[in-house]
Amino acid sequence: MRFKKDFYWKNGCSVKAGRGLPERIGLRRSEKLMQKQTDFLVIGSGISGLSFALKAARLGKVTLVTKKARVDTATNLAQGGIAAVLAEDDSFDLHVQDTLRCGAGLCHEDVVQMVVENGPARVRELMALGIHFMSDDQDPSHLDLGREGGHSARRIAHACDLTGHEIEHGLLRAVAANPNIEVLENHLAVDLLIGSRAGVDIPSDGVDQCFGAYVLGPDNVVSTFRARVTMLCSGGAGKVYLYTTNPDIATGDGIAMAYRAGAKVANLEFVQFHPTCLYHPKAKNFLISEAVRGEGGRLIDERGNAFMTKYDQRGDLATRDTVARAIDTEMKSSGDDCVYLDISFQPAAFIQKRFPNIYQTCLSLGIDITREPIPVVPAAHYMCGGVQTDAMGRSTISNLYALGEASCTGLHGGNRLASNSLLEGVVYAHQAFVQCEKDWPELGKQPLPELAPWDPGPAERLEECVLISHNWDQIRRLMWNYVGIVRSEKRLQLVRERLAPVVAEINQHYRDYLLTPDLVELRNIAQLAELIIRCALIRKESRGLHFMVDYPERDDANWHRDTII
Ligand SMILES: Cc1cc2nc3c(=O)[nH]c(=O)nc-3n(C[C@H](O)[C@H](O)[C@H](O)COP(=O)(O)OP(=O)(O)OC[C@H]3O[C@@H](n4cnc5c(N)ncnc54)[C@H](O)[C@@H]3O)c2cc1C
Repeated sequence: MRFKKDFYWKNGCSVKAGRGLPERIGLRRSEKLMQKQTDFLVIGSGISGLSFALKAARLGKVTLVTKKARVDTATNLAQGGIAAVLAEDDSFDLHVQDTLRCGAGLCHEDVVQMVVENGPARVRELMALGIHFMSDDQDPSHLDLGREGGHSARRIAHACDLTGHEIEHGLLRAVAANPNIEVLENHLAVDLLIGSRAGVDIPSDGVDQCFGAYVLGPDNVVSTFRARVTMLCSGGAGKVYLYTTNPDIATGDGIAMAYRAGAKVANLEFVQFHPTCLYHPKAKNFLISEAVRGEGGRLIDERGNAFMTKYDQRGDLATRDTVARAIDTEMKSSGDDCVYLDISFQPAAFIQKRFPNIYQTCLSLGIDITREPIPVVPAAHYMCGGVQTDAMGRSTISNLYALGEASCTGLHGGNRLASNSLLEGVVYAHQAFVQCEKDWPELGKQPLPELAPWDPGPAERLEECVLISHNWDQIRRLMWNYVGIVRSEKRLQLVRERLAPVVAEINQHYRDYLLTPDLVELRNIAQLAELIIRCALIRKESRGLHFMVDYPERDDANWHRDTII
């Protein structure tokens, strides 16, 4: 008899807690059962998870699970920097206006204001941890602030093109020194522990509660991690697409888990495609930072013609959605495999100093960017939608928060402004901490309910990995070809039909085979693909990152709202 695994999948509910377990649910004697209890379960070791963990450790014990090595995060790859009002000739109002303009009418203005105003303090906190942003050559008491597309002022704090690496490693150093934080690598959260599904009564306010998660450990055993507060800091979902700048961890697990648990998710049709990913057979998803255009880089076609002013009066400094669509149009009309980004007219010494990582990586592939243009194509880069949260990072389920790229806070609206996502991660980690601190006198005392252990049922070991890899490839290709930069209702309907049998097959695998990280991630990218398509079909207009050929205009009368499912 199968309980938890099937029920989570099929019926959205699971076995009641404490009913004659484990015999009743048929656990295998050989299965090693693990139960763990903590105050804060943080899922993810990027900027949002680490920043929150550091603050929450003042309140109680923090267990941070991360599904691969702790540095395997999008944060670690961030190049350009973190946006904040740090210069005297900049203002909160300018940063707010830039964010709103980029968000195509869907940003929540109160959220934008809050995040922008919090920015400088949060960046200074990072610096106080020993994280080093480049200072101005002429005046070392000031930061050397970069400029990026869509920003009307220089406001990007950076560590050359290795900003994410500097932030990630600085935060990890601080976490390692904190005795109240335990970091568990190669621990993958599979599903959330939701009160109503575990026999816990829904409180009188009618809002379901989260008590932690099932976590697949390195020994492929699923353990029950009980927690008073659960933080989804699991990052984005770029791996849903064939071409992406994202690291392998970006399979949308947190969004998929939250959705399965009954939380609201929003705006998943708004997928940002970065316009300039290096086009080279030996480069795996290598990003050419926005900052290259910020420093004067020009997009040209194979014949050397600059084309951006045809599409936007801001030319090469237009926002990402405009630039990505322009490149897509150029490539489709010319039949060329890529376009080129040229920064070679800048002095070589400047390029080598400002973009050491991009310079070296390109050089190792035979491209000297001080002398020749860089071949680039667009690639899936950032998920603007995610788990719907309020201004404190709370989801629609009690004690379940979502931070960073896994969340949809209202900051980005229909399009994210460059370098606003590291900012969002660190600001919302603070907001969530403020809320937890407020709730802690009561929440910290509440007993956690007994919860049923995971039941693998009669599932077998999966011997043929091709069953997983084939479906992975199929979903990512379908999404790239049918749900990419430019969409049509016909293609969205078609892909929905094509995806249905693939999803059915994955559901069957999920029931038939013992869990492995690949199987869990496959299930999540399939879930995300379905959700993105669903949201894209709902929005019958073009806005920000969502461009529908059938509805090429923005339609404020009908669609000036979030897509919430
Ligand atoms: C190449 C690149 C360059 C970028 N450049 C910039 C930039 O210059 N400025 C900017 O603002 N933004 C940039 N971004 C975006 C930004 O880096 C991310 O949005 C941000 O770092 C996300 O932080 P996060 O904490 O939400 O998640 P991440 O940093 O992605 O961390 C997610 C964590 O969750 C873990 N995880 C996921 N699923 C599970 C699970 N099921 N169980 C356990 N652990 C799990 C992962 O292993 C990882 O540790 C860039 C992104 C990329 C890919």
